[in-house]
Amino acid sequence: MYKVSVVIIGLLLMLQTRAQEGVSIDTAKKITILYTNDLHAHLDPHRVPWISNTRLVGGFANIATRVKQEKAANPNTLYFDAGDFFTGPFISSLTKGEAVINVMNYLSIDAACIGNHEFDHGWENVPDQLRKARFPVLNGNIFLKGKKKLLWNNPYTIIQMNGIRIGVIGLHGQFAFYDTIADEMIQGVETRDEEKYLRKYIKELRKKADLVILLVHQGIPGRQSSTGNTDVARNLQRDIDLAATIPGIDIMITGHAHQGTPQALLSNGTIIVSTDALGTELGKLEISYNPLKDKITAHNNTLNYLYDDEVADDTATARVIADWKQKVKQITDEKVTTIPVSLTRSYGEESVMGNMVADAILYTYPGYDMAVTNSGGLRQDIDAGTVTVGNIISAFPFPNTIHQLEIRGVDLYELFEHGAGLTNGILQVSKGVEIQCDENKPVGSRIISCKLNGMDIDRDKTYKVLTSNFLSDGGDGFVAFKKALTRKKTTQEIVQSMISYLKQYKEYQPLLEGRIKKI
Ligand code: FE
Repeated sequence: MYKVSVVIIGLLLMLQTRAQEGVSIDTAKKITILYTNDLHAHLDPHRVPWISNTRLVGGFANIATRVKQEKAANPNTLYFDAGDFFTGPFISSLTKGEAVINVMNYLSIDAACIGNHEFDHGWENVPDQLRKARFPVLNGNIFLKGKKKLLWNNPYTIIQMNGIRIGVIGLHGQFAFYDTIADEMIQGVETRDEEKYLRKYIKELRKKADLVILLVHQGIPGRQSSTGNTDVARNLQRDIDLAATIPGIDIMITGHAHQGTPQALLSNGTIIVSTDALGTELGKLEISYNPLKDKITAHNNTLNYLYDDEVADDTATARVIADWKQKVKQITDEKVTTIPVSLTRSYGEESVMGNMVADAILYTYPGYDMAVTNSGGLRQDIDAGTVTVGNIISAFPFPNTIHQLEIRGVDLYELFEHGAGLTNGILQVSKGVEIQCDENKPVGSRIISCKLNGMDIDRDKTYKVLTSNFLSDGGDGFVAFKKALTRKKTTQEIVQSMISYLKQYKEYQPLLEGRIKKI
């Protein structure tokens, strides 16, 4: 399957080169499309080890400057975002996303779609916050449960620019929605088949628009890890497939996979672009549209890192960010402990952050056999030095609570297998658990052994396991949690467990102990 897609992309790249030769048609109208996705509340420039260890990247005040510069230099410029602006550094969690929407109002956004993380504080919070946006937010397939009414009734918008009518549709992938949102956060809504609604909206736009742009949030979730990821085609396969299935999308700006497209992908005539997330880059897609042929005759795509030392802050944006941080400073500045080395994350291996979080959960209820947590829930490293409450919320920005389960050994093996398959990252485990796995084996048979305190985990025995409400409900594809024999919900928030656990130590020592061994 993968080989086939590589061949198709290769062929499409050849066609793209040919199309570019035909640029100089007088009637061609040019439009520049700037784009981001998965901004994840990264209001401030930050360090991304796989980009640079010394230079900071991203930041909304830098995005604002670049967008304004581009729009000033060329008025035929649009800026779109493909969702997941909530959840990242503490400011989002502490304001349920309000601060993020407020700062986004300064970015000259022309339209954005809704991502799964916009639901991290519950479905009712979504319209409450989106009402504060001064830019169009689009979604056409998330409905009130059992009703005909959309949660946010704005499936598409039409923008006139340079004599072209541009229809912009917003959709959320059904799989991504249910894969990555905690069940209890979406009790009153349901996401319906994005393909059906995409066809419907394309049909409605046929007479009203010359170009169709799809803002979509779908596919596999982004790796939460301190390292980069380069498998573009695999990570955007769902986008390639959607364009192949449904004709009529001129441009697709996609989010969720956290996978940048240094070169635009082409599928069934659709240009597909995305960034690596967290605002590290501002994507720029320049197109030439020929109204006589009614098609895009040329395009050029670049992903440009937003190095903080190269871009001056937009002053209005910087001021509003500073104001929001000031409002929560009393909470976030509280010191918890110190660490001699950074707490880092890994999607496919044991990590010091994962160990700490699992141990903190077990510390809260010490009578349990083990605690497990998903790598995807760990969102930011904590640098060596003082650890504050703000650092902890940024590392684990979810209001997740602890669930107490009794679960059979056989189901534990299934959970560890799903983790070792790496679509959603491995399960991070508490002290005393030791897992051996072989990534060269096929998905589903990678676990070689699982031990608890030196003894093999017995498939026929029942174990007392702690985890988050998100995993307990089968989140991130860990569906075997649903087979738990008993389930007790607590109101204990995992963030509070982390704070209490770390406060015991004047200096906490992050350690890798071989809890997960790769062969
Ligand atoms: Fe997402």
